[in-house]
Amino acid sequence: MYIKTLHWSVWLSATVVTVTVIVGWWSIARSDNAVLTTASATNSHNTKAVELRGIWSSYQVKPDWNTAIQKLSAANFNAIFPYVCSPGIAYYHSQVLPVSQFARHHDYLAEAVSAAHKHNIAVHARILTLEMLFAAEHTKSAFAAAGRLMINSQGNTAPWLCPTDPRNRQLLGRIVTELVTNYDIDGLQFDYLRYPGQDYCLCPRCRQQFAADTGARISQWPQDILPGGPYAAEFSRWRQAQLTALLSDLVTQARTACPSIAISAAVFPRWEEHSERFGQDTARWVQLGLLDFVAPMNYTTDRLDFATWLLTQRKAIAGRVPLVVGMGPLSDACQFDDPEQLVEQIQIARSFGAGGFIIFKYNQQFAQEYLPYLAEEGTAILPGP
Ligand SMILES: [Zn+2]
Repeated sequence: MYIKTLHWSVWLSATVVTVTVIVGWWSIARSDNAVLTTASATNSHNTKAVELRGIWSSYQVKPDWNTAIQKLSAANFNAIFPYVCSPGIAYYHSQVLPVSQFARHHDYLAEAVSAAHKHNIAVHARILTLEMLFAAEHTKSAFAAAGRLMINSQGNTAPWLCPTDPRNRQLLGRIVTELVTNYDIDGLQFDYLRYPGQDYCLCPRCRQQFAADTGARISQWPQDILPGGPYAAEFSRWRQAQLTALLSDLVTQARTACPSIAISAAVFPRWEEHSERFGQDTARWVQLGLLDFVAPMNYTTDRLDFATWLLTQRKAIAGRVPLVVGMGPLSDACQFDDPEQLVEQIQIARSFGAGGFIIFKYNQQFAQEYLPYLAEEGTAILPGP
């Protein structure tokens, strides 16, 4: 009985995905702007008529960048997205941020760039934009004491930079500028450019700024701006606008310092819902031309979710920039059973006209179990004719 049920569920799932893929193809055939054509019109590295095949990683990899890059190159990858800093700690030789004790004798970003460029692999430095992940406790405490962190409706402080604080915006601008100026990087990727949840940020500065910007007359704070309150919708839009304005500032600074830099963002997959929940208005970012490509983290083992998200994202992007699909075989959100699942997602993404993919993440397991499979099944990750 179990086997029969399983059989039917798999059959049903495969059928629905097939139908979704066919609908996707039909929609793509009707589109005037093929994603890759748009890609070639932008100056994004590695998206010029070539599928972007990228990997997310930590600031360092084992045993070292040279070895990892050789393996990635052999498996036809052409881009890496190492995490290089959060607003509280850097893994490169920063003049702006506290440098991690692990990075005092190693400039991990310089090592990654040197190794990758020998194999024509692009380096996109990934910034954890607002969350002070991995920062020292005393660094976070200093930011909290200075009133620079996000606060929720319970009055609790989270280790996330409040985007309306000019000191935070200036800090992030300096980080972006030093990265694109001091390192021969090909791209900059904004990760964690969001609020931790719907309950942020309700700090006194955000409250005052919201009232000043919108003219809202708040009688009960925070009830009036929380879900169900008279200003909930307006506050949600205002909150999204803060992150969009921040991104716009940072992109302007990055492009001014380095016009050829490819800008991207790692974002949550369900854009409409997640813009409300996390303030991440990805569709708007694309409309405003802030991104050279967009990388939704479509981390799931469910084929239908994967295909549905792709179709919705593709529609929202409307051919403006390439959709470079994030896949999470070794992510917190899901774990794949085997590398074949990854190849299947790559094929589905291609069938939707994606400009490439980025896989989470490079580690020993990926190097041992996934890379040999991808390299052996080379055609499986090479773009079709
Ligand atoms: Zn705030």
